Amino acid sequence: MNRIGIDLGGTKIEGILTTDNPMDVLVRKRVSTEQEKGYAQVLANIAGLIEELRNVSDEPVKLGMGIPGVVNQSTKRVQQANAQCLIGEALEEDLANRLGQGINIENDANCFVLSEALHGAGKGYQCVAGIIMGTGMGGGIVINGQPWKGRTGLAGEWGHASIEEPDGVLCWCGRKGCAENYLSGTGIQRIYREATGQDRSVASIHEGFLSGDSACKLVMDQVLNYFARSMANIMVHLEPDIIVIGGGVSNLPILYSEGLRRTNEIVFGTPLTKIVENQLGDSSGVHGAASLAI
Ligand SMILES: [Zn+2]
Repeated sequence: MNRIGIDLGGTKIEGILTTDNPMDVLVRKRVSTEQEKGYAQVLANIAGLIEELRNVSDEPVKLGMGIPGVVNQSTKRVQQANAQCLIGEALEEDLANRLGQGINIENDANCFVLSEALHGAGKGYQCVAGIIMGTGMGGGIVINGQPWKGRTGLAGEWGHASIEEPDGVLCWCGRKGCAENYLSGTGIQRIYREATGQDRSVASIHEGFLSGDSACKLVMDQVLNYFARSMANIMVHLEPDIIVIGGGVSNLPILYSEGLRRTNEIVFGTPLTKIVENQLGDSSGVHGAASLAI
């Protein structure tokens, strides 16, 4: 049986048709999300993409999708979505009715961790934690090859765990000092802007840090301390075998050397958790979605 994995993003929807091996891609296609046109249009775009991929061959397919939000396990409605038009909608049921078959919908960060755990940097480990440090910050946990969601889907959302900044930056979620505001790409740029009054990309701040620019050194020094606090908390709560980092910030090599060193300096005990960069890059979301297809 073939698989279809869908990664629903804010601006585009990516879909893959694979064999029963979710890494073995037969067809890959992207369409626009068209969020601004509302839920009905987004639903039609997802269904259209799935139908197109499903019609490629006569082989029956299993369906899985990652979304920037959580499907509440009791109400089956979407919540905590940064794609606003999805909030409160019964996306799983609406798609199943339209397509005439069931679809498994999972948080996109969980899809990232699942694909890295099964096919990427976390392959072979029992307990894999993943964090996406991108525009925002999300995360998830995979134990024995299965996402651990928690009762309502909250498990692994370390982006909204406070990193000892009780009077810190006000987060969109309503709390203060959430890790997302210090460790996402947007958060790192904010720290630089507040220190210098200027805008600079994360990659450029990192380059400046390596070449000895004093403002960049100050900012990266703070970021590494925040990173260490966040990682140390994950280690104490879960002590995973490995923490896999994804998103745009994940390609800063300093996280895996100095970031890991500072983490081990402040963490309780001597955990042997590794901290590594992801292996599947931007494709991990769709492969994770295909992995959990039903
Ligand atoms: Zn928050």
